[in-house]
Amino acid sequence: MGLLTFKGGVHPYDGKELSMDRAITACPPRGDLIYPLSQHIGAPALPLVKKGDRVLAGQKIAEAGGFVSAPVYASVSGTVKAIEVHGTPTGGKGDAIVVEDDGLYEEAPLPTVKPLAEMSQEEIIQAVKEAGIVGLGGAGFPTHVKLSPKEPDKIDAVLVNCAECEPYLTSDYRLMLERPEKIIGGLKVMLRIFDRAAGYICIEDNKPEAIRILEEACAQETRIQVRVLKTKYPQGAERMLIHAVTGRNLNSTMLPADVGCIVDNCDTVCAIYDAVILGKPLISRVVTVSGDGVASPGNFECRIGTNVGVLLEAAGGLKDGAKKVIAGGPMMGFAMYDLDVPTTKTTSAITCFLHDAVEESPSTACINCGRCVNACSEGLVPARLSQFAEKGDLETFEKWHGMECVECGCCSYVCPAKRPLAQVIRNARRMAMAARKKQGGR
Ligand code: SF4
Ligand code: SF4
Repeated sequence: MGLLTFKGGVHPYDGKELSMDRAITACPPRGDLIYPLSQHIGAPALPLVKKGDRVLAGQKIAEAGGFVSAPVYASVSGTVKAIEVHGTPTGGKGDAIVVEDDGLYEEAPLPTVKPLAEMSQEEIIQAVKEAGIVGLGGAGFPTHVKLSPKEPDKIDAVLVNCAECEPYLTSDYRLMLERPEKIIGGLKVMLRIFDRAAGYICIEDNKPEAIRILEEACAQETRIQVRVLKTKYPQGAERMLIHAVTGRNLNSTMLPADVGCIVDNCDTVCAIYDAVILGKPLISRVVTVSGDGVASPGNFECRIGTNVGVLLEAAGGLKDGAKKVIAGGPMMGFAMYDLDVPTTKTTSAITCFLHDAVEESPSTACINCGRCVNACSEGLVPARLSQFAEKGDLETFEKWHGMECVECGCCSYVCPAKRPLAQVIRNARRMAMAARKKQGGR
């Protein structure tokens, strides 16, 4: 079989050599830990603690604010100092619980867990919900919602997204090398929910060692296979992944379950294992800190709520003259203007650069070269979409299928005129979605 892939896309320098050989190490937290109540898509979580309360590591400090929501757990023991507005790595602001770390790491007792074979599908989904798991790849969609499609019997493919196509990111790669049993174990948990489904671990072909390890680890598993994907950005975007592995297509109005698929990222599947098999809530995640702007790139097991500045220090600190820090990777991440923010459930990486390519290359007029059209994996016309967006003409933007944009950034990457296409289109999508919500549509 040829390598699985999709149309369009780009091949940016991936910078993975900076951190791919760095084993996951713990990042000891310091100072206050901050837990935003909105670390997920959906209703904010509701605090269960108040100022002055003592909390333990692994204690639930905020409960889900609705079905599409997720609880939040303390990742250290200490005292609740405040519940106040705080910034997040992606530039947002919202209420957060601030815990003063007492340095003791005293843990809340774990619940008793049943063997997987004795758990009902509802009990498994409830355990995932209770653990506060959301899409750790960056989307932050509550995982128990994904695991509860309208027609579970129609799900025939459960995909573990190990593509990690975003440049510089290597946290999933390290998980594949160091914790394959959790990936397989988490996938087996998901397959217990979907009896008819096969499990696919999807890895790009630039990670041969990970492919070898996972193939060996699932050799005896009758329902699990490794699928090797062509290395191309954005191969890990949900729609591209589903198309590459199953040949099925979906658009912005559909969910993966509409085409019989459930997709979860590598770290999320490990968290499912921890929750269901070990009874552990989500209190830490693996974060890559990389780029030419940081002294010692690496992959860190980071307690959620740890200050980004502390995480950067664990990676040797920013180099003199570092100009840009991004929450996430360079293609889909968010430029950071304040490092005094906490790592959240969806912080997969912090990338740091000595140069700010955007600032150093001012944008000029479109020369109609068509490169953005060739690069767009959704077959869109980014040059035109950005023009409609800039004019505020959302109606034409939608007519030209602007809502189908997956915000991959390929168009901006290839544009010789350095036009901020993806950013402008992303803003227009946000405005159009807000307008739809106001009108009561999806
Ligand atoms: S228009 Fe959207 S989907 Fe197409 S290349 Fe640009 S960011 Fe990616
Ligand atoms: S790549 Fe840039 S210059 Fe070329 S058509 Fe698209 S917007 Fe215009």
